[in-house]
Amino acid sequence: PTVAQLYRTRKLLPAETIDPAFPPSQHLNDSVSVIRNDLTKLEVDCIVNAANKSLLGGGGVDGAIHRAAGPGLVKECSGLDGCDTGDAKITQAYNLPCKYVVHTVGPIYHSASRQDATRPEKLLRSCYRTSMELAMQHSLKTIAFPAISTGVYGYPSHLAARAVVHEVRQFLDSHVGQNNALQRVTFSNFEQKDMEAYAKAIAKYLPPTP
Ligand code: ADP
Repeated sequence: PTVAQLYRTRKLLPAETIDPAFPPSQHLNDSVSVIRNDLTKLEVDCIVNAANKSLLGGGGVDGAIHRAAGPGLVKECSGLDGCDTGDAKITQAYNLPCKYVVHTVGPIYHSASRQDATRPEKLLRSCYRTSMELAMQHSLKTIAFPAISTGVYGYPSHLAARAVVHEVRQFLDSHVGQNNALQRVTFSNFEQKDMEAYAKAIAKYLPPTP
């Protein structure tokens, strides 16, 4: 689907009590969508790849992106010298319908937690923030994310969704009214567990206007 066809967040929301700490916010609800779709089909300005540190391709969403993009993508990635966990790098999109691909490396949940219990969340938030910053630096207006780290990297979906939606709301809040602000953030999930986790997190941090 094109961006215009994406669901509006508020239509997906259950009627839940609004958390007074996160009051309804018109502009933000119009800026965020949650869909269940294949990231590689989206005609947004950039999609975000849940890559590994080598940036040379892998399984899951990373494999799907490389397959759909064609061999030009791995060729460009091989010149980037990898990527640290929590950081992001941008490439062309080759045969994908989007314009750019942002490659970010999510934390491996259990190994990051072993060092420090707060570390996975800091790194996951950094993935989303750094990806959005990179998109803005390239004057991109629309960005779509998969549920980073919630596949083989083992991050529990509900914990991930809470941290991610909170981070994205803070980011959008801090750029409201700026010329280069992002116009739409899409969470493009694959699995039902992530859809449920996002519905809850959005009801809390991005409640609909009553
Ligand atoms: P990670 O290593 O960061 O956990 P995975 O690729 O294993 O990355 O999983 C990340 C999420 O991406 C999972 O929730 C998985 O279901 C989802 N996913 C897999 N393929 C696609 C796709 N084509 N589009 C969107 N999401 C996808």
